[in-house]
Amino acid sequence: MIKVCKFGGTSMADGINLRRVADIVNSDPARRYIVVSAPGKRYGGDSKVTDLLYGVWHEVEETGSVGEAYEKVQTRFFGIVRELGLNYPVEELLGETAREIERERTADFTASRGEYLAGKIMAAYLDVPFIDARDVMKFTADGRLDSAKTYTLVKNALKGKRRAVVAGFYGETPEGKVKTFSRGGSDISGAIVARAAGATVYENWTDVSGFLACDPRIVPSPVGIRALSYKELRELSYMGANVLHSESIFPVREANIPILIKNTFRPEDEGTEILPISKYRYSGRVVTGIAGKKNFTVIFLEKSLMNAEIGFTYRVLACLLKHNVSFEHIPSGIDTMSLVIDSETLAGGVLEELCEDIRAAVHPDAMRVFNDIALIAVVGHGMSRSVGVSARLFDAIARAGVNVRMIDQGSSELNIIVGVDSENYERTVRAVYEEFFQ
Ligand code: ADP
Ligand code: ASP
Ligand code: MG
Repeated sequence: MIKVCKFGGTSMADGINLRRVADIVNSDPARRYIVVSAPGKRYGGDSKVTDLLYGVWHEVEETGSVGEAYEKVQTRFFGIVRELGLNYPVEELLGETAREIERERTADFTASRGEYLAGKIMAAYLDVPFIDARDVMKFTADGRLDSAKTYTLVKNALKGKRRAVVAGFYGETPEGKVKTFSRGGSDISGAIVARAAGATVYENWTDVSGFLACDPRIVPSPVGIRALSYKELRELSYMGANVLHSESIFPVREANIPILIKNTFRPEDEGTEILPISKYRYSGRVVTGIAGKKNFTVIFLEKSLMNAEIGFTYRVLACLLKHNVSFEHIPSGIDTMSLVIDSETLAGGVLEELCEDIRAAVHPDAMRVFNDIALIAVVGHGMSRSVGVSARLFDAIARAGVNVRMIDQGSSELNIIVGVDSENYERTVRAVYEEFFQ
């Protein structure tokens, strides 16, 4: 049995927590390969090392040297080594790293050093080999993971090693430059190692006892989810439940490796198991979980006989292509269509130009833009088994006095997505949670 364990930022935040991590790893001989994040926040208001490093990058960009911004990073790692009581040349390592940051001079390289340094220290503390992700995680020229190459390199690097620590979050481009995944990407690194190691399970250790039915920052102590299918996970994490990076599912799903989300601070809690649909047992709940995100723009189009106009959607999508904008959803009716787009991609005048192009391309009868929309996804296999889910959902939202701006029900009946004004986001999540979980 091989367990691959990824420890997130909070689990790596200070020396005391690193000791917990070591205890967890040492308590089970199957826990052989460890993937680590950079130290995260120790308390509310604290900074994540990755954010400190982006600060260092700004300093390097402006002055050419790491400057004072690097001191905070050093302090964090000095503290960790001291708290661990580890005899480790951390001053030397930090000095060398500063010089490398100044030499390499990229944001990604700088940001990746949190995982690199944390990985080195964790490996020294556990007294196992350290694997630099640069040597084994490879990207293609267009920035995607080169899976074939990566799995082979990781497998070879692990071969013959009883245990090892791998740095999360980054890899290397074909030009030999360090590149990071998007934020929270150590979850992806962990999944890749799990896949390459042929793991029995991918354990993802974080600061909550598994996936909760909704964001605990919105509803205090929501119920825990015992088991999720890969599909439900993908929907929930893509829609904002950031316990697990939404892309971390792909490597493990291909090999049917279950994911187990566990709490570093309450290791005895059961956590959440994420399973292929074949192993997933229906929980009896109509809704498995609720997730959401703010900051979307909805462009609403209306035109009589839109459905009969051949090429209507094609012409609208061509406008998106021209501006290099992707959409999240396109719910449509007989004579209506809404484009739901991440507002960030429409900044700097793009929205106005896009709307003008759409108007010229399809001559809609009406076109309205809703800014500042939040999307809320209600997810669960149970929804297809029950009648009246939508009625309950919309009733609950109406009772909360919230106006629904957009509705999208996936054809798989795995989710219903509603759009509301961002200011109503939290209120809507609470209302939906109360309806289905209390
Ligand atoms: P890590 O640093 O371990 O990767 P993250 O901060 O990325 O941890 O993810 C864990 C956090 O995700 C939790 O502390 C919690 O605040 C947040 N979160 C958001 N939605 C959910 C949810 N549905 N269930 C559990 N945690 C959630
Ligand atoms: N340290 C990185 C971040 O803060 C990656 C991760 O923690 O997964 O985004
Ligand atoms: Mg995370």
